[in-house]
Amino acid sequence: RSKKLQDGSWCWYDADADEDGRRRGQIAIGLRSAITEGALRLVFQPQISMKQRRLLGFEALLRWTSPQLGEVSPADFIPVAEQTGIIVDIGDWVLRQACREATQWPAPTGVAVNVSPVQLMRPNFAERLTEILAETGLEASRLEIEITETILIENPGQALLVLRKIKALGVRVAMDDFGTGYSSLSTLFSFPFDKIKVDRTFLNALGRQAQATSVIETVIELGHKLSIPVLAEGVETDFQAAFLKDRRCDEAQGFLYGRPVDSSTAHALALSGTWQEDDAEALAKLTA
Ligand code: C2E
Ligand code: MG
Ligand code: MG
Ligand code: MG
Repeated sequence: RSKKLQDGSWCWYDADADEDGRRRGQIAIGLRSAITEGALRLVFQPQISMKQRRLLGFEALLRWTSPQLGEVSPADFIPVAEQTGIIVDIGDWVLRQACREATQWPAPTGVAVNVSPVQLMRPNFAERLTEILAETGLEASRLEIEITETILIENPGQALLVLRKIKALGVRVAMDDFGTGYSSLSTLFSFPFDKIKVDRTFLNALGRQAQATSVIETVIELGHKLSIPVLAEGVETDFQAAFLKDRRCDEAQGFLYGRPVDSSTAHALALSGTWQEDDAEALAKLTA
């Protein structure tokens, strides 16, 4: 498509890029009032132990229903929130909300919270974490922070300092979306992660791309050699679950075990210790 410039000449332009830019602008404006207008909420997705066949806890995932834009995916609004810096306030809200929720569940049911690099690299992140734990009364050992490897590439020295502080509080740290970034193994394992989450693109490719099998097997083996539990993300089929069990993958998360659910459903699941919305099905799986 072409567009007329102010000097009267014409040039080519990318209408899609234009449209994207406008939407990002709308998202940025909408996010500013999202907290105060109560438009944010958390949903909770079960994480299960493959060996013990029990519910370990939930990953808290953010949802935003904008009065103007409707339901916006975190994949679309998190990057904008990071660019504008509003992620710091939103991330704070998420942490507090997730910890408060988890205090309602029987111990030791845990909660995993995604933390953006922007939020983690703020000078007072560990102090904020301490305050939130004190304020909500959640035991530190029931909280897990999920971070992606990007953070270790951009500012490894600073990141390691913060992560050590977090661990000193007794909060666990998981490496999210493992295998999708570009960090070296040495960068990754200069920090003792408490969990490795294999990205769901690998699970997705299982049975379709020959290399996927090797990648997943290698990560599980690596985790075992380093004594770090490995969680497979995005488990959707019995075939995938069987593959993971056979390779002794420690933990799993995905639509097969449960989609993200609202807080009252998560509460009921936590009390029952199972992970399906349908209890009969969950118990059948527990005893299978
Ligand atoms: P993530 O942390 O890797 O979260 C897992 C994503 O995979 C979630 O998408 C979840 O709904 C989806 N998922 C889980 N199981 C399956 C499955 O079996 N199949 C498929 N196709 N998808 C599955 P969601 O909720 O849309 O979140 C997307 C990303 O947005 C998250 O990826 C995370 O990076 C980010 N995010 C979500 N909530 C927060 C938050 O509170 N703070 C920050 N900083 N980022 C967040
Ligand atoms: Mg995550
Ligand atoms: Mg992930
Ligand atoms: Mg992901």
